[in-house]
Amino acid sequence: MPTTHLPLGPIRSYRAGFGGAVVFSVDDVFPGTRGRPFEAGGAFEKGGLGRLLWLLNRHPKLHLTLFTTPDWRETTPVPRSVLQRVPWVRDRVYLAPILPKGTMDLRRHPEFVKFLNNMPRTEVALHGLHHVHRGRRISVEFQEQDLATCMAMMQEAIRIFDESGLEWSRGLQPPGWNLPPPLHHACAGVGLRWVASARDLRSPVTPHAIAAEGFGLEGASLIYPARTPEGLIHFTTNFQATTAPERAFEILDAGGILSIKAHITQFVPGHMHSDGVNRLYMNYLDRLFLDIEERYGDAVEWTTMGRIAETAALEDPDWVSVCA
Ligand SMILES: [Zn+2]
Repeated sequence: MPTTHLPLGPIRSYRAGFGGAVVFSVDDVFPGTRGRPFEAGGAFEKGGLGRLLWLLNRHPKLHLTLFTTPDWRETTPVPRSVLQRVPWVRDRVYLAPILPKGTMDLRRHPEFVKFLNNMPRTEVALHGLHHVHRGRRISVEFQEQDLATCMAMMQEAIRIFDESGLEWSRGLQPPGWNLPPPLHHACAGVGLRWVASARDLRSPVTPHAIAAEGFGLEGASLIYPARTPEGLIHFTTNFQATTAPERAFEILDAGGILSIKAHITQFVPGHMHSDGVNRLYMNYLDRLFLDIEERYGDAVEWTTMGRIAETAALEDPDWVSVCA
C-alpha cells in the first residue's frame, strides 16, 4: 500500500502528569441497514450503535469517536467484475456495484443524524466522502487524486455534515488509512485539526516506536500524538479485537494513547472485519476497561482524539512533538 513519508517524532510523553489516555473509535458508520447495502448504524439501538451504547452505559468515563462517511457508496470492498483481469481498464472502472450518489447522504437521513447527535460522550469525525474508488482497492478512496480534487471532495464532505445538522469534530480517518500528500494538504486547507492515518497492532511498545505495519502514514509514533508538517495532530491505531490486553497496559505504562479500533459492521459482502462491533468484542472491551480502571484509576484519561487535538491546539502547543 503506498504511503507518504513524513518524519514524525521524536516524541515525548503525551502529557505530563497523566499516565496515558484511552480513545476508542469505530469506522464505517453510515445509515445503512441490512440489505441496503448492510447494517452500518441504520438499525439504531437494534444494531451496532446499540452495542456501543451498551458499552458506553457500562463505562461512564468512556468516550467514543464514530468515523462517519457523509455519502457512503460502497457495497463491497471486494472486486466482483471480470474486468479486474484486464490491465489498464481495471484501474479506470468500478469493479463492484456502487450505490447511486445521494442514497446514503446524511442530509437525507435526519433520524440518523439526530440519533448520532444524541449519543452520550460520542464525537463524530470524517471517514472520507463516498468510501469508494475505481480499481482493485475499492475501499481506499484517496489514491491518485490531485490537490484540487481532494479539496473539492473534502469541501463536499464538510458541506454534507454541516447541512445535515450533524455535530462533528474537525478530524479525518481516511478510508484504508491512506493519506497521500494532496489529501494531507487538503485537510489543512479545509481547516481540519487532526487526522488518524496509521495502524500498527504488532510493533513492540516503546516510547520511540514508530508505526510500521504498512498502513497509512509512515514514520508516525506508535503511541503518542504528533504534529504533522501541515499542523495537524496525528493519532495511530494500536489496538483492536485481536490484540492481547498486555499491549494495552504497556501503552498506558508508557504514558501513551491506547487507541482502540472497531468497525461498526463485522460481515460486509465478501469480507469479514476482525474487529467488528459484535457482542464478543464488546464483552472483551468491557473486561479490559474494568481492568484499566482497577489498575490506573484516575491516572488514565478517558477522552477522544478530537478533545486531545483541541487541547494541543489551545492549551499547550508544545506538548506534542513538532515534526522535523
Ligand atoms: Zn472505512
